[in-house]
Amino acid sequence: MTVQDIAQDYLTTGKLDALPDGHFIAGKRTPASNKKMESFDPGRAEAFAEFSLGSDTDMDNAIDAAEKAALHWRQVSPAERCRILNNVARVFRDNADRLAVIEVVDSGKTLAEAQGDVQSSARLFEYYAGAADKLDGRSVNLGPAYTAFTVREPVGVTGHIIPWNYPTSTFARGVAPALAAGCSVVAKPAETTPFTALVMAELLCEAGVPDGLVNVVTGLGSDVGAQMVRDPRIKQLTFTGSVTTGINVAQMAAPNVTRLTLELGGKSPLIAFADADPEKVADGAYWAIFSNSGQICSAGSRLILHKSIRDEVLSILAERAAKIRTGHGLTAPDMGAINSELHLSRIKAHVDAAKARGANILTGGDTTGDAETGKGWFFQPTVIADLAPNDPAIQEEIFGPVLSVQLFESEEEAVTLANGTDFGLIASVYTNDVGRAMRVAGAMDCGQVSVNDYWAGGLELPFGGNKKSGYGREKGWEGLDAYTKVKSITISNAS
Ligand code: NAD
Repeated sequence: MTVQDIAQDYLTTGKLDALPDGHFIAGKRTPASNKKMESFDPGRAEAFAEFSLGSDTDMDNAIDAAEKAALHWRQVSPAERCRILNNVARVFRDNADRLAVIEVVDSGKTLAEAQGDVQSSARLFEYYAGAADKLDGRSVNLGPAYTAFTVREPVGVTGHIIPWNYPTSTFARGVAPALAAGCSVVAKPAETTPFTALVMAELLCEAGVPDGLVNVVTGLGSDVGAQMVRDPRIKQLTFTGSVTTGINVAQMAAPNVTRLTLELGGKSPLIAFADADPEKVADGAYWAIFSNSGQICSAGSRLILHKSIRDEVLSILAERAAKIRTGHGLTAPDMGAINSELHLSRIKAHVDAAKARGANILTGGDTTGDAETGKGWFFQPTVIADLAPNDPAIQEEIFGPVLSVQLFESEEEAVTLANGTDFGLIASVYTNDVGRAMRVAGAMDCGQVSVNDYWAGGLELPFGGNKKSGYGREKGWEGLDAYTKVKSITISNAS
């Protein structure tokens, strides 16, 4: 079956074949022991399946299985871990079509976006497969009296709380380095996107990952999610989501002094200087805010423009944005759906409030539907111009296809505006002046900067935020740090 066949089958029947039921614990599907909840297709605003609301017992069993499996996995040779993780990448690629279609129906994104996510998930396993046998310590020179060195040991059971905007690749970016480092995993996907984590856990076992090493419990964050966070057997928590929940998670984890990686979103700026090519700036800003319908922690949700190029950039951008066709992700639209009705209402509330303040909305500004059926949860691509630094549309994460524009005259002013929010995830600078690009990149209070591009680089680079965007780094070699503990060993050479 081609990916088009699988997609067509779903569009005709409204059902997906062989969706996992229950949880995935100790290497097998585990029937729901509790109530179930409907899962919605955002592109149609219709329920397509049910998933299990995990119970205390389900989470307890999952952590128990992960604890047992961790004892075995840390004894497996790094070379064998490397072979198994490479096999995971192959199995993901073999199942890419099915995974991508499930991701579209569960999340609302376009098929092309979901296919990209599945490929980058496979690539994450490949990348960390290559790391599994290179986690060396270092030898430390204390002179002839001692021999000293460090070793990197696995932290043990790791907990992963997955958001709904990138369910597949966020799962992979935490699970791959955890397994490479010798840890085991308990994952809790978001309530609105429970299925791909279950499918991926099954595929991991098919690829040779031992039973119990990766467990998935679906359910409510405030329920099984919080239970996982509080459990002292979890030694590292990797959380991606909102600032409010991230703070709550940090407070709940504190009594056990559990290690934490927090990835909490942003309000990332694209700064364009007077010498930048307006076409390129408009193109960069377009992809930075309208990809994944703007539901990206690192979306370029603020465009900081030099006054001299304002009109040209904004007229190109507003014209392109107005032509975007929204639609069900399996029908090759330009832009997919918003993940849930609740989130759509949050985006609408932000934009309605901006309208009430008299904001200059150049295009968009309201909810919409699939261009063909009129159904689904969609928001028009929106550009709000000429905003003041303290405007809520500049300060608050909207997490939708809504671009907020600010203007500047001097380099100093651009830097102040760019750093002028509580967030600090990524930034991008467009200029032909190398010295200026380097000065501005150095002045950005954030984790990652691109020059003359947005999202330059890949999963080989560390990713994570400063300020309220969180702490810790995922991806790249630094992504392994959360999953290893460094131990120093010193031997006396005395006779
Ligand atoms: P959220 O932070 O509440 O949910 C994210 C994950 O945390 C989900 O898996 C959820 O089940 C879990 N969770 C929720 N409460 C929990 C708790 N008490 N203990 C443990 N886990 C818990 O986010 P949301 O309500 O789905 O979205 C709200 C806002 O979060 C969005 O508007 C957006 O601004 C932001 N967000 C950011 C990202 C990101 O990539 N940084 C991803 C999704 C949402």
